[in-house]
Amino acid sequence: MLREISATVASINVKGDAVVRVVEVVKSIQGITSMFSLSGRLYRVDQVPGQFRELFILSGYRHPKSSAKQCILSAFDVTNETLNIWTHFLPAVYFAWWFVELAQEHDFVNDPYTWPLLVFTFSSMGYLLASAIAHTFNTMSNKARHIFFFLDYAALSNYSLGAAIAFRAYCFPEVLRNMTFYSDWYVRAAIFNSVGCTVLSCQSRFMAPGKLRKVCRLGAFVIPFSFDVVPLVYRMVFAGDEMLVDRAYMYHTRQLFFAFLAGLLYASHMPERLLPGKFDYVGHSHQLFHIAGVLGNCSQMTAILYDMLDRKDILVREDRLLPWSYTVVTMGVVTMVNLITIFVFSTYLTKDRLKLMSDDKPCNKCH
Ligand SMILES: [Zn+2]
Repeated sequence: MLREISATVASINVKGDAVVRVVEVVKSIQGITSMFSLSGRLYRVDQVPGQFRELFILSGYRHPKSSAKQCILSAFDVTNETLNIWTHFLPAVYFAWWFVELAQEHDFVNDPYTWPLLVFTFSSMGYLLASAIAHTFNTMSNKARHIFFFLDYAALSNYSLGAAIAFRAYCFPEVLRNMTFYSDWYVRAAIFNSVGCTVLSCQSRFMAPGKLRKVCRLGAFVIPFSFDVVPLVYRMVFAGDEMLVDRAYMYHTRQLFFAFLAGLLYASHMPERLLPGKFDYVGHSHQLFHIAGVLGNCSQMTAILYDMLDRKDILVREDRLLPWSYTVVTMGVVTMVNLITIFVFSTYLTKDRLKLMSDDKPCNKCH
């Protein structure tokens, strides 16, 4: 193969069509890349079944019936999923390290005041790991693809609840803290949203591809997260001079900005919509969506930590501490409910239904 490249380079005639020659060199290099592929060859969009295709992504697909070993090895290959895996796996490791550092300063076992932060941190690591797992193993089979993305959705739902618990515990503005009804029902509504989010997003996988499915999938996450941030938006809008001394203010603003950006990237399929096939491996919207989400998550963590540290005296004085039953216990119960929901939806994935849901002829070029 190296000989082929040298021959191709040597044969470039300065007077000839150099562009065509350069394309040939690139093709040779791509050939070498695929020779060293750890997980097998890659496929074009027209070579994989419809349910494995991503909009405007034309190449870099893994085999739709990869083994678990191939899926793991593919994380070290250059495929259209590689950066989707790492953009969530590495932040999960970073958050774990961040938590270990925090645990040296705070007593997460005996101090109930820290439990909302504990719940939030674990729900953040949970969705990052679930997403990395889903992106790694979703090409094992059609059924596995559905189940791994059910897991991904459930973990995101848990994260929306983890954020609501932390916001309620540390971040509410004074006005909303004193509105007993709103304060009391905020977490209860977030529980309802979390379970509803899992149900709706899983159900959307049974819908025909199209705008309605996209709206349901996006709505399943936009609704709980929009609900969660209402107290923060209120606090940002009516902050007044408080923002000058409130060190969490900037980080709350950043997390709102990145959350909006993440939603926009997910919904728009930009930039690959403009240049299909040019961002197959690097820079497509799902990778950017992951990165924007993680940046928002980092800002969120910093803001929550600052609020937890800076507001403790006020919250204790006002007797506004969140009951322990609203933190660890609530998260444990909702996690169980979300897992049961996944199990129920998985039982609907019978052979006949999967066949009905396949929106394309079977892959006859893959092996
Ligand atoms: Zn993803």
